[in-house]
Amino acid sequence: MRCGEQHAYILLCRLTQKVERSRPRFLRGAWRGGHQALSQNNHHNPAPPIVLTIAGFDPSAGAGIAADLKTIAAHNCYGIAAVTALTVQSTQGVQSVHVTPPAVLRAQLDALAGDISIAAVKIGMLGNKANAAVVAEFLERGKFAHVVLDPVVKPTAGEAELLDAAGVKFLAADLMKHATVVTPNVVEAELLTGLVIKDLAGMEAAARKLVELGARAVVVKGGHMEKAVDVLFDGAEMLPLGGDHVKSESAHGSGCTFASAIASQLACGRGLAEAVMLAKTYVTKAIEKGFAIGKGPGPLDHFYRTRFEPAPRGTHEVPQHGLHPAAEPATHR
Ligand code: PLP
Repeated sequence: MRCGEQHAYILLCRLTQKVERSRPRFLRGAWRGGHQALSQNNHHNPAPPIVLTIAGFDPSAGAGIAADLKTIAAHNCYGIAAVTALTVQSTQGVQSVHVTPPAVLRAQLDALAGDISIAAVKIGMLGNKANAAVVAEFLERGKFAHVVLDPVVKPTAGEAELLDAAGVKFLAADLMKHATVVTPNVVEAELLTGLVIKDLAGMEAAARKLVELGARAVVVKGGHMEKAVDVLFDGAEMLPLGGDHVKSESAHGSGCTFASAIASQLACGRGLAEAVMLAKTYVTKAIEKGFAIGKGPGPLDHFYRTRFEPAPRGTHEVPQHGLHPAAEPATHR
């Protein structure tokens, strides 16, 4: 600690002790062996916007909750999560799905919402209708400002079922109405609307139909079409969003990442169109920077923005509180 910092620290300690002494004894910091512990919590630091993801867990961390939390963190928000299902999967695909019992999902949501102020909610894999109904009820009660619903039905690769048929019907008939924006890909949009989508006009027709069905706004993602154009429809304006088609082996979890990026941008106060455009730019770049971790499709690089220098290994951050001397890395292995 430099001399000026030491002075500032001593002054802060004195001030803290003075304030502490002026409080009634029962409100003061802990007393241990006659020594008064300094009141040093960090609750005065402002919390970043908090984004709740309600999704499945992919142990390979490419999709689902792990992708969501990385995306949320990359947007300088704080992510919290309720797990709808545990999947058994590697980069080579989903082997099995174990859906969380609805009462346990409800308990997770109630525990979080009863404690933490949530700026935005992102919903991904739900598993089945019972869990979709728990989420609909939660959204109805919570009246959240921003809800992004990614209607995950199947993984991009493989045949595993990530939402049962009754759940798909419930999503179209009920859950969708609780969302600020719904983000189906072309296959999901076909399933939810019953339409066949072959081109941009088909994507626009599906977006219109989803709004007729009760969605407030829709992004139909054209990532798998010939041109990577998405369409955003908010019930009034149809906005085509052009983008580069990134040919990549590492795009697992791109839908989860896109929806979480929109939720984070909304949580930070951006309007819907801006949030969607920024999320598209982010996911495109993260796909471009994706890498392989196993034998199958790799994950995106959610932290591509911070990869300017390698993270230091084996070193400590120098303590700033001055209570013990700065440790040499070699002394703490
Ligand atoms: N959510 C979870 C928990 C998943 O396991 C998967 C895919 O396996 C997805 C979402 C969908 O991800 P993707 O469309 O990239 O396969």
